[in-house]
Amino acid sequence: MKYNINNKGYYGDFGGAYIPEMLYPNVEELRQNYLKIMAEPSFKEEFDQLLKDYVGRPSPLYLAKRLSAKYNTKIYLKREDLNHTGAHKINNTIGQILVAQRLGKKRIIAETGAGQHGVATATVCALMGMECIVYMGEIDIARQAPNVARMKMLGAKVVPALSGSRTLKDATNEAIRDWINNPVNTHYIIGSVVGPHPYPDMVARFQSVVSEEIQWQLKEKEGKTTPDYIVACVGGGSNAAGAFYHYLENTDVKLIAVEAAGKGIHSGESAATSVLGKEGIIHGSKTLLMQTDDGQITEPYSISAGLDYPGVGPMHAHLYKTGRAEFISITDNEAMTAGLELSQLEGVIPAIETAHSLAIFDHKKFKEDDIVVINLSGRGDKDLQNYIDYFDL
Ligand SMILES: *Cc1c(COP(=O)(O)O)cnc(C)c1O
Repeated sequence: MKYNINNKGYYGDFGGAYIPEMLYPNVEELRQNYLKIMAEPSFKEEFDQLLKDYVGRPSPLYLAKRLSAKYNTKIYLKREDLNHTGAHKINNTIGQILVAQRLGKKRIIAETGAGQHGVATATVCALMGMECIVYMGEIDIARQAPNVARMKMLGAKVVPALSGSRTLKDATNEAIRDWINNPVNTHYIIGSVVGPHPYPDMVARFQSVVSEEIQWQLKEKEGKTTPDYIVACVGGGSNAAGAFYHYLENTDVKLIAVEAAGKGIHSGESAATSVLGKEGIIHGSKTLLMQTDDGQITEPYSISAGLDYPGVGPMHAHLYKTGRAEFISITDNEAMTAGLELSQLEGVIPAIETAHSLAIFDHKKFKEDDIVVINLSGRGDKDLQNYIDYFDL
């Protein structure tokens, strides 16, 4: 296993669990149990059933004919946008709530920035009848009112983080504080392949259903399980991890990770972590993150709230450092244009996060007979106002 996690919780030089001592029992309990729980037949059965009947899996693998014609290559879209709640995030929250139940937990906490992970968490808590507390920066609560309303409607309690810049990292600090104070009855659902080991691996495994399906869907359509390229946008990296997972060790399949360049990589307003990032520790794992020379985390910027993260999961730091994945940075303007293009060529309005991965065709040429699978991580309903303002629609 050159590109996947090793038994110490590292992807090459990245990963591990750098946590305060008071958090150790919680993380250790999870580490000792997650693989055992996930291997239980009754777990697998319940997870698969919910993915099918509640989430609506398998998500289609759709040959985008007009998009393919425009860029003279064969483009498939993996339609995670059609999942319940509109994105890939639900794959992970379903998995984690089932783990939490088996660990005897009664209470779920989460942090959220844009609110997408908060909504996916509140959804599965309603499904399972579990108490749900979502920490969210006070600024984000104001900016993301529709998602706050959704969480409340689903029965979750949204607690404002009032310290620091009152955004995602402050919400994360509040969630960690809560977990330290409630180690026995509470599970912390992290929303991407970030955080201390075992979170990046556990989340990658729950999202790996995406590449598992791509394999048999391509076999049906193309007579082989492997595409030439898999493309996914990267915030923390969970939808990319899921789309790459079963292809990590097969280097015939080229992996492309797409990051947000914001207003330009070197504009001072970007979230292009792999290019700009240096080794450091964020949220309990050693990875690449954007920081000043004296180690202060830099505020990231992207027009898409889901890519607006100063770090990247340790798997992706490793894929970048080893060259296993190619990283491409896309600006706000390029992403918005690509989002509009997909809408009008295919009748699919993508999330702005996803639109970044659709913008690569102006950066990279593909051969006519290449098979390119793009992970369509989410739908654009949540971004409609943004699109309207941008294009003056
Ligand atoms: C949250 C989100 C992302 C970014 O998160 P990853 O963990 O990098 O996948 C991308 N697309 C959509 C639609 C999202 O909601």
